[in-house]
Amino acid sequence: METLNDTLRRHGFAFKKQYGQNFITDRNLLEAIVSDAGVDGSKTVLEIGTGAGALTRALSRRAARVVSYEIDRSLQAVLAETLEGCGNVEVVFRDFAREDLPALERSLGRYLVVANLPYYVTTPIIMRFVEEGKCCDGMTVMVQEEVARRFCAQAGTADYGAVTAAIARRGSCRITRTVPRTMFTPRPNVDSAVVHMDFTRGGFPVCSDAAYRMAVRCAFLSRRKTLENNLIAMLKISRPAARALLAAADVAEGVRGETLSPAQLAVLAEQLVQAGYVKEQP
Ligand code: SAM
Repeated sequence: METLNDTLRRHGFAFKKQYGQNFITDRNLLEAIVSDAGVDGSKTVLEIGTGAGALTRALSRRAARVVSYEIDRSLQAVLAETLEGCGNVEVVFRDFAREDLPALERSLGRYLVVANLPYYVTTPIIMRFVEEGKCCDGMTVMVQEEVARRFCAQAGTADYGAVTAAIARRGSCRITRTVPRTMFTPRPNVDSAVVHMDFTRGGFPVCSDAAYRMAVRCAFLSRRKTLENNLIAMLKISRPAARALLAAADVAEGVRGETLSPAQLAVLAEQLVQAGYVKEQP
């Protein structure tokens, strides 16, 4: 039987590094990703990066509907073969970064994101769903292992950052499996991990998304400086005003922003609103 690599070769397909084309072919791994995502016959799945359609096909077997985006039109003939008979799959040959997410969500309803993401756009894609994905119930994504650790980090660790805090506000996040580089064609220079984010549980409400984003920006503005100094620099306020904010948020003087948990950042966000530092609507 012809392998996926044979099919790609027969079509004269050349892998494009600039699109982050590292494909997976291992059936067990593909099935494991679909299981990690909790896909069942009631779910609509949005995939970013169809590639040669291996994950798309595995998703198609379990989901109600799969909408998959692929930037590289030269995969069209390959996909016509590999996704033959997958009646619940729609491949959209467009750059996902240019898509209008609210319009797409109106056509999808509630959905899950499942993807082996192109590494060069991992964080912007994830942040888009975290911040704007109103109908997104969760994401299960293959990313570089180092990036996966940052997404799930605990407050106060070197891996903890603005992206971690943004994800934590939306839901729970955990690494479900690590994946060695040998599982990809062509082989990348780093190992990967599958991260499962569940936006239906583990998140918390904030008084204003804009205020929470501002609190996060203040906390991580400069890791070497105290939160007090970051507040002064970012909000252009006096030291006494910064101290009053910290006291109201129950944060001790002298702490660094990176030690604040996402829940503490939400309290700081509330104080930013109370003190009138957030002008934007929630
Ligand atoms: N899903 C396949 C798999 O697991 O084997 C392919 C994954 S590969 C890591 C990422 C895919 O995303 C590539 O096929 C690449 O062409 C596509 N891609 C890269 N940037 C994209 C973008 N901005 N919009 C849509 N697809 C993109």
